[in-house]
Order: sequence, then C-alpha cells, then structure tokens
Amino acid sequence: MNGTVTNWAGNITYAAKEVHRPDSLAALRALVADGGRVRVLGSGHSFNEIAEPGAEGVLLSLAGLPPELEVDTAARTVRVGGGVRYAELARRVHAHGLALPNMASLPHISVAGSVATGTHGSGVLNGPLSTPVREVELITADGSTVVLGRGEERFGGAVTSLGALGVVTALTLDVEPTYEVEQHVFTELPFHGLDSGTFETVMATAYSVSLFTDWRAPGFRQVWLKRRTDQPLPAFPWAAPATEKMHPVPGMPAVNCTEQFGVPGPWHERLPHFRAEFVPSSGAELQSEYLLPREHAVGMLHALDAIRDRIAPVLQTCEVRTVAGDDQWLSPSHGRDTVAAHFTWVEDTRAVLPVVREVEAALAPFGARPHWGKVFTVPAPVLRELYPRLDDFRALARELDPDGTFANAFVRDVLARA
Ligand SMILES: Cc1cc2nc3c(=O)[nH]c(=O)nc-3n(C[C@H](O)[C@H](O)[C@H](O)COP(=O)(O)OP(=O)(O)OC[C@H]3O[C@@H](n4cnc5c(N)ncnc54)[C@H](O)[C@@H]3O)c2cc1C
Repeated sequence: MNGTVTNWAGNITYAAKEVHRPDSLAALRALVADGGRVRVLGSGHSFNEIAEPGAEGVLLSLAGLPPELEVDTAARTVRVGGGVRYAELARRVHAHGLALPNMASLPHISVAGSVATGTHGSGVLNGPLSTPVREVELITADGSTVVLGRGEERFGGAVTSLGALGVVTALTLDVEPTYEVEQHVFTELPFHGLDSGTFETVMATAYSVSLFTDWRAPGFRQVWLKRRTDQPLPAFPWAAPATEKMHPVPGMPAVNCTEQFGVPGPWHERLPHFRAEFVPSSGAELQSEYLLPREHAVGMLHALDAIRDRIAPVLQTCEVRTVAGDDQWLSPSHGRDTVAAHFTWVEDTRAVLPVVREVEAALAPFGARPHWGKVFTVPAPVLRELYPRLDDFRALARELDPDGTFANAFVRDVLARA
C-alpha cells in the first residue's frame, strides 16, 4: 500500500516506512517473521500513537484477510477474525438468534482493536467489551501461533494487550440468546442533590445508562436509558422525557443516532448510540476518557464542575458511563467497579491539550486511569502505579515477544521496556 495513512480522526499520520495489507495468514506470518518492528492497525479509531510502529516499522492492516466469522449455536460462541468490525459481527450473531452483552457507542470499530484498548459501553453490571472473550489466537514474533484461553493464568494479559503481544488473528467470544432493547432519552437532570446513592440509582435504572453534559452549566443536558425489554420498565422521576430525537453532540443530526422514544429493536441497533451506516459522533473531534473507582463518581463531578469554565470552550460533549470491574491486567476498569468520564473535544490539539492536563490534575486524586485509545498526557511512571498487575503483563510480553517486535514507543513507555 502506498500513500500516507492516518487514524480515523486525522490527528495522527503514521510514520511507518511500509503499510501492508496481507491477503492470507501465510503472507501475514511471513511479514511478521521478517524481523522488523510491527504493529497492527485495526479500524484506526484510536486518538493517539498506540498503533504507530515508528519510522523504521511496518504497519499491518488485516482488512484484506478473509473476514472470518463462525457462529457455534450449540456452544454459544462466535469465532471472529482479527480485522472484523462490530457491525459485521453483530449482524451475523443476531442472524443466529444470539447476542453480545454490550457494545460501545459505535459499531464501526474492530473487535480486536477495541478489546486491546479496554473499550467499553455502559451499565452498572456490564464489564468492558473484553468480558465475553474466551480465547485469543495470536501470531507471535517468530511467526508461530499461540492460543490463550480463559482459565489460564496468562489470559489476564491476553485480551487488553495494547497490541503488544502479537497479531491477534482470531478471538472467540461467548454469546447469549438475542434480546431487544428500547431507548428512552430524558433532558435536564440537575446536579443539585445528586449524592452517591442517587447517582448509583440513576445509573442502575436501566441495562445501560449514559449522562451527557456540555459543562456550560451544572447538570446533565441529556440522559440516555437503554432498557432490555426482558427487564422492568423503570420510572425516571429525575428529568423530563425528550420531546424530539436527540444527538449527544449539540447541532449534529439525530438521524445519525439509533432509534429512540422507546421503540423496541434488536440489541445491536440500540446499544450503540450511532448507526453503522452514518458517521459516528461529530466526525471532527478529539477524545479523552478517564476511568475511576465508582465510589468517587460524585467527587469526580464536583472536581470537573470546578473547572467547567476551562472545559466548556473546547468541548463538544461529555459522557458519564459506568463499567463493571474486570480481570484483564491492563484494563482501565481492572479490579474496580468504575465510573467513566468521556470528553469529545473540538478538533484542535493545541487548544485541547492544556485542558486535558487540567482535567487529569483534577481527577488524579481519585486514581483516574486514562482510556488507552484516547488523548492523554498522564506520564508513564504515574500510569504504572495505577496497574497492580503491570509486572505480570511485562513478563508475558517478554515471554511472547522477547525481542520487542511489537513494542512501539507507546508500549515501551508504559512498560518501561528498553
Ligand atoms: C467516534 C468514536 C467513538 C468511540 N466510542 C467509544 C466508546 O463508546 N467506548 C470506548 O471505550 N471507546 C470508544 N472509542 C475509542 C475506540 O473504541 C478505541 O480507540 C478502539 O481501540 C478502536 O478500535 P480500533 O480497531 O479502531 O483500534 P486501533 O486504533 O486501530 O488500534 C488500537 C490498538 O489495537 C491494536 N490492534 C488492533 N487490531 C489488532 C490485532 N488484530 N492484533 C493486534 N493488535 C491489534 C493496535 O495495534 C493498537 O495498539 C471511540 C472512538 C471513536 C473514534
């Protein structure tokens, strides 16, 4: 492949000396075993240099591989190739009467790239998207295949791996019987009186709940409830129902968003906010996100409210979600039920970075972990303190990738690896 390659947002132009799109596993294996630094590019929806192999390295796209998607209805599993996106996976799984437990705000992203960075949706009982992964198949630096399955000790590092262990050629995920979801949007939920008990109650009113604010005034402009129709319909006394279809980014067309007003529909057409056939979010943006222990949710809101005059001028929207704690060593929700504050910024790195630093300073006392795929400036030594199983991950990376074939500058920094 020739020409420059950028991420989806366009804020990163990869410096890789070569970009390859192998059309078979044999060709992929040969490229990996060639000896140079290698990174895989998923669907390119990360906002930082996590996928960058460096100017001497090779970027591999798996989009040219046959799109493997094998549903085993008896075992209730699906095996998905390393380049497949959630939109394709969800359609196939749904056609078999099956479902995933959750989705991110958009279905455009690749499965392997998403779980590698700890991508998540919302829900007090829903872990990140890595939760249903039961097996990971990798091509490691010498071109051999390694399979790591749930139940093995090393599996704790295998899924949310930052792409540092090898090329993920397939993942096997647990699936469940299909279900329907309806989406209800409310407007103007005040902060006033929002103690931690009320926050938890609000976030638990439905299977997945998101709160949106622009930080121009205290309070949430929108509340999105995604209710499974096999679960009770809750009362929502804290805010008024929306009177028109809404987009979370002010000024963007609501037609881009999944169906609202309580119209039931398949899980994969309601759990994401954005429809697969439209541009997600605003399309001209940067993003950051911080994940904190959930008991700090109200403290987090007060800390952000105290600097809202700094945040609001460079913000398109801020989304607050919950994620259940999980076991992946490098997952930002590792070991703790989590509240996540996401920021869709304007597309202006120079204006946004100083505010990102202020947000990080405000959230540091709560042990905030940045999303691996978004813009952050938290220094690596601070990050390392936030991950109690980091040494285990470092040992696994050394075992599977002794020469650092997959260790780009981002990963070397995080792992303090030479
Ligand atoms: C509009 C928008 C909305 C978003 N919404 C959410 C959201 O709701 N929740 C959330 O948590 N995040 C969200 N994100 C962030 C996004 O989910 C993550 O950045 C995710 O990593 C994107 O997946 P990708 O395939 O594009 O990854 P890429 O950016 O392509 O890659 C991410 C990492 O995965 C590695 N990788 C990818 N594929 C493989 C493979 N096959 N083998 C080995 N390594 C691999 C790459 O090397 C890189 O290190 C959003 C991003 C955008 C642009």
